[in-house]
Amino acid sequence: MKRQSILIIYTGGTIGMQRDENGTLIPFDFNSIEKEFPAVRHLHVHIDVHKLPPIDSSNVTPRLWTELAHTVRDNYDKYDGFVVLHGTDTMSYTASALSFMFENLKKPVVFTGSQIPMGIMRTDGRENLITAIEIAAAEKNGYPIVPEVTLYFQNKLFRANRTSKLSAEALNAFDSRNYPPLAEVGVNINYNWSFIHYEQGWFEGKFSPEPLRIIDGFDSNVVILKIFPGISEVTLKAVLSVEGLRGVILETFGTGNAPTADWFINLLAYTIERGITVVNVTQCVGGGVAMELYETGKRLQQVGVLSGHDMTTEAAVTKLMLLLGNCEQKEQVIQGMLESKSGEFGS
Ligand code: ASP
Repeated sequence: MKRQSILIIYTGGTIGMQRDENGTLIPFDFNSIEKEFPAVRHLHVHIDVHKLPPIDSSNVTPRLWTELAHTVRDNYDKYDGFVVLHGTDTMSYTASALSFMFENLKKPVVFTGSQIPMGIMRTDGRENLITAIEIAAAEKNGYPIVPEVTLYFQNKLFRANRTSKLSAEALNAFDSRNYPPLAEVGVNINYNWSFIHYEQGWFEGKFSPEPLRIIDGFDSNVVILKIFPGISEVTLKAVLSVEGLRGVILETFGTGNAPTADWFINLLAYTIERGITVVNVTQCVGGGVAMELYETGKRLQQVGVLSGHDMTTEAAVTKLMLLLGNCEQKEQVIQGMLESKSGEFGS
């Protein structure tokens, strides 16, 4: 059997942290990861490490997304798969962004991290890292088993753009409430083949020969607006009048419902008339938007608010930023938001 080659891209986060003399968590030198995880050397894979300046993922900006996508592209022909070590706090944002940046991705890109610093005995990072490497290297008939951008955490592999960090405490911090896991890990790694995206004829090598392409350029002139009972006209007006604003992810109640007060609807209508794209996602962790169900959702639909279907906020905002950064016409942004690009909504 051919020995697979994996590139680990290290960006920081708890998985690569240690305590300083005051007990504060600080990033540490990446070389220690190999020392902490000697087991990786015993896997039947060749592993190289590409280290980016370690950061707490709260400091992530689209610049990191671009750097990561370029690192994968520049090393694409040299490796069979990629493992990205990333802080958990914003991992779903970065992983979602990358899922939209790649076109014709045919190799695994697996994100992982840990809740407990790897320098601590009980770390969850060891298992997360080792299994992520195994998944990135997994192949059948010489073709990758999971040719997608994914996120592996605590025994489950998810489609990255379906995930959210749902717990600041539990070791199973991530979930994908609207799409089944792509693999579940016990004694064996059990792949859920029917939920993994494959081009037709994948395992016979009959897929399109199109090379990997990156779509680059994010427009950060967007806002995530979570509505709440009692939200005031003056607040909404202030947020929607931010200079340069181009997109709004509106986090609504339940199946996409919001107040029907005239001032609320009129402000949104005026915002959309000014050329700003407004996308409706639910603030619930599971389920999605169906604006036609209730009068409270219908009013939004009537003024031109787009349905975010069952997208996570992380997927919706990164997708919108990328579309705004790349489309010349507003119609193209709308069209892009309404089509599932990388399996980010629907079944
Ligand atoms: N604050 C850390 C980060 O996101 C948390 C973690 O990695 O779990 O970088």
